[in-house]
Amino acid sequence: MARIHTDGNLDLLSGKVAVIGYGSQGHAHALNLRDSGVDVEVGLRPGSPSRELAEDAGLVVKEIADAVSGAQVVAILLPDHVQKPVYEGEIEPSLADGAALLFAHGLNVHFGRVVPPAGHDVVMVAPKAPGHRVRELYEAGAGTPGLVAVHQDASGQALELAIAYGTAIGCGRVGLLETTFAEETESDLFGEQAVLCGGATALIKAGFETLVEAGYQPEIAYYEVVNELKLIVDLIYEGGFEYMRYSISDVAEYGDLTRGPRVVDAGVKETMREILAEIRSGAFARELFEDDDAGRPRFEHLRREQTGGQLEQVGSELRELAGKRGLLGADVHGVG
Ligand code: NAD
Ligand code: MG
Repeated sequence: MARIHTDGNLDLLSGKVAVIGYGSQGHAHALNLRDSGVDVEVGLRPGSPSRELAEDAGLVVKEIADAVSGAQVVAILLPDHVQKPVYEGEIEPSLADGAALLFAHGLNVHFGRVVPPAGHDVVMVAPKAPGHRVRELYEAGAGTPGLVAVHQDASGQALELAIAYGTAIGCGRVGLLETTFAEETESDLFGEQAVLCGGATALIKAGFETLVEAGYQPEIAYYEVVNELKLIVDLIYEGGFEYMRYSISDVAEYGDLTRGPRVVDAGVKETMREILAEIRSGAFARELFEDDDAGRPRFEHLRREQTGGQLEQVGSELRELAGKRGLLGADVHGVG
């Protein structure tokens, strides 16, 4: 059974916390920490469009190096692909002795792209929710669950410090699940590649194309394989596969049980194992970072290739139609 921590000791956060970045996670962490009584400074690059937003929220905003300077904890809440240059250029040179470094995702540390020197705690506090939920639920007196991990324990108190921080942003009210940088990073990458983002979009696309290529109307195909997917996922989220299967018709259930394993067969699972192996060996990270360092030629090419296809076009037409009638497409169709 995983170890779950709640209600950390906020007294451990007696110094300044520098929150670097004011995006999805950054704004939520900064505001929740402040409202928990922690001394916060936000570090932003010159000309950052977020500066006004942070200042309007009553936060102290400084240049990154100035916020880092003298901080007890430096929370690096920048997009993952800019963490290395910003860390090397503006964070590490200004780190106070014994300052802790905190991340919300393990990617850069786990794959050795950011290598903090000895003498600093290196921890992770990763809310399992988008930043706006982290803020919303905190304000409502609740919180989102989160993960905590320690990569480097210089103080002997790194885990307690991470739990304190996780509590100050509201996750400690619900539960902070203890993990490692390796487990968080590898499982997160696998989830988004094989199931959530990569797997789901490829499955939808293949289903849509199969119907359209066989002569069915694209609008019918769209409703069938895109809109209804949301209904099914909502049922699974609410009560698992059994509840979903209880809610759908017997015909749908019989088709599900007999055809599902043919779509995602042993070959697909073998591919999933290969994808996981590429993640674990670091091959995926090397590929990603190489492309990133070269200015993202491959990434941008793939993005362009996927933009504006028939599925997207039909989807936007149908959404417009539903919008005009004040209806949400996904909520007006059942599953037969
Ligand atoms: P984000 O893209 O919302 O924004 C990060 C902020 O960084 C920007 O708002 C800006 O203030 C700053 N920034 C952007 N580009 C910069 C640059 N070139 N130089 C300096 N500053 C720059 O990022 P996010 O989604 O909040 O992600 C931050 C971290 O949190 C990442 O490690 C991510 O993996 C992790 N995380 C995100 C979520 C989420 O829901 N978004 C959930 C869990 C963990
Ligand atoms: Mg993820």
